[in-house]
Amino acid sequence: MIEILEGLYAFVIGAAVGSFLNVCISRWPEGLSVVKPRSRCPRCGHHIKASENIPIISWLLLRGRCSNCHLPISIQYPIVELLVALLWLAAYLELGMTFTAFRVAAFTTVLLGISITDAKYFLIPDGFTVFGLLFVLVTAFVALYFGEAEPFARPWDAILGMCVGAGAISIAGWLGEVWLKRPAMGFGDVTLMAVVGAALGPPRALLTIFIGAVLAPIVLLGVVYPLSARGFADDQGQTELALEASGGWRRRELPFGVFLAPAALIALLFGDAIIAWYMRISGL
Ligand SMILES: [Zn+2]
Repeated sequence: MIEILEGLYAFVIGAAVGSFLNVCISRWPEGLSVVKPRSRCPRCGHHIKASENIPIISWLLLRGRCSNCHLPISIQYPIVELLVALLWLAAYLELGMTFTAFRVAAFTTVLLGISITDAKYFLIPDGFTVFGLLFVLVTAFVALYFGEAEPFARPWDAILGMCVGAGAISIAGWLGEVWLKRPAMGFGDVTLMAVVGAALGPPRALLTIFIGAVLAPIVLLGVVYPLSARGFADDQGQTELALEASGGWRRRELPFGVFLAPAALIALLFGDAIIAWYMRISGL
């Protein structure tokens, strides 16, 4: 019984965090504050009442439409709320009511926000990365008192990892620019890898970049390009992705953060096992 209540609690907290994540995703790319003003309908300016702002439920009750102008509200809102709610629930089910579960849930929420803004707007807001870096570093020290550092890096490794992550992606971006003779990577990727490196430590930060580099061409060439070639991708971001994948480079860089963020989650959860396996087969 207590597990069901705790699980429900984790889900509800996650849904509320997801609701705030939606605000960050829609406001930070435009340089707006996430604290004020209160939420409004982007089309008619109608102030969203508290009763219309309940994660997931309100969107369903309103049938995805503004109560004032009746124009559609993006399905992104309930989907992000549900995703983050499930994420926090999964962290609880896997790790229990622990400080580590909270760290994993919060870190993954930041990664999700970064993936979405990078895919939609081709940028990684400082709001996510600055908060992420502070959160990861502060909780690395706090975790010492709880005696539960794993799977995150301990404080010294966190500081080294921050530098290694940001440094390695900078080197990769620099060499990429020399090779492609055009800007290859945004500075947002450097800030993202500083956060990831601080969370994972140096070895798994390098692994993250490797996994991201493997994921990017697979997803771009295997999923996004075939879909958009058939005309399924009316979303502008996806179309631009596809143009880049097909060799028609257009005005913006590759949103590498879309791939680095899930790569970081894989490295956090399975990185030690992957590195141990690689060391064994390679004899390093
Ligand atoms: Zn409206």
